[in-house]
Amino acid sequence: MADKKDYYEVLGVGKNATDEELKKAFRGLAKKYHPDINPGNKEAEEKFKEIQEAYAVLSDPQKRSQYDQFGHAAFEGGAGGAGFDFSGMDFSDIFGDIFGDLFGGGFGGRSYRSGGGSGPMKGQNLRAVIQITFLEAAFGCEKELELTLKDECTQCHGTGAKPGTSAQTCGRCGGKGRVMYAQQSLFGTVQNVQTCPDCRGSGKIIKDKCPACSGTGYTSSKKKISVQIPAGIDDGQSVRIREKGEPGINGGGRGDLLVEVRVQNHPIFQRRNTDVFSTAPISYAQAALGGTIRINTIDGEVEYDVKPGTQTDTRIRLKGKGIPSLRNRNSRGDHYVTLVVQVPTGLNSQAKELLRQFDAQTGDSLAKQNGAAGNKKRSFWDKNK
Ligand SMILES: [Zn+2]
Ligand SMILES: [Zn+2]
Repeated sequence: MADKKDYYEVLGVGKNATDEELKKAFRGLAKKYHPDINPGNKEAEEKFKEIQEAYAVLSDPQKRSQYDQFGHAAFEGGAGGAGFDFSGMDFSDIFGDIFGDLFGGGFGGRSYRSGGGSGPMKGQNLRAVIQITFLEAAFGCEKELELTLKDECTQCHGTGAKPGTSAQTCGRCGGKGRVMYAQQSLFGTVQNVQTCPDCRGSGKIIKDKCPACSGTGYTSSKKKISVQIPAGIDDGQSVRIREKGEPGINGGGRGDLLVEVRVQNHPIFQRRNTDVFSTAPISYAQAALGGTIRINTIDGEVEYDVKPGTQTDTRIRLKGKGIPSLRNRNSRGDHYVTLVVQVPTGLNSQAKELLRQFDAQTGDSLAKQNGAAGNKKRSFWDKNK
């Protein structure tokens, strides 16, 4: 990057600085700008990254000579640059060397090196999926879930070290649990932080592993967990069960268990938010004459008076017969029913005769309606013969 500061300037040393002078300058600046000393200070963090990068290059004779020759272009892979590859570069060597000096004495007794450089941390959340029926979702239910849950090992109390021994601070990351490395990107060299591969982020190396947990600090066991599914829950929504996730780190609380609910389809009912939709058949005679029909709802069967002359696909509303609201189970959606007129099939001869008589009567009035249009047409053709 064009506006990148000169590495020598960053460290405040001359072009002919010796290794000792570089190291001294780096230590002084690192002490001042280290994130542990300036928690939450973005400017200090940026500055610290700059210092690290500058020191990483200038403390390596080969990289320093490339830098002296080509400047920043040496590491940008562009024209004229040597295309030095930063990726995979590990700053932990620098830290392993310097952190002893920096924090060896400790600051006010607080260790800056323990537990991956962090205080108590809440455990990770766990996820599970549960299948419930349409009606269970509507009215709520209780389900039992069997899960393999981790618990802090009672033998080593989570340290992973054999009782009587203790874990050693990881040499690679100096107990921080993270290592920094520089990476080439389109935008130039960027500093990245990676979980320490030696201690996998714990900041500690265990020489004598606890036999009860094989050094993991945890034991796993199957546990039955009761899950209360609230009325009104919908497909894809989750229920949070506090403190049934992974155990915390350094005395932090357990994570939560998030149970995602999958609602099975119902053979009759569909759902949109809190409203229920279904269809109900009515007979030809009920549609024409009106009458009482029985309709399935999520509460069971209800009676409904069909109005005379109801057309097929008429939608009726059963107020308050929908799904309870998740927030307030006393407030319910509606149930919309589409009435579908059944055209009779398999008629016997008597029924057929009755229908013919029916048609002969009503056919007249229908014919009048159609005839009116038909007559007009005819007169149109008559005129234009
Ligand atoms: Zn153990
Ligand atoms: Zn480590």
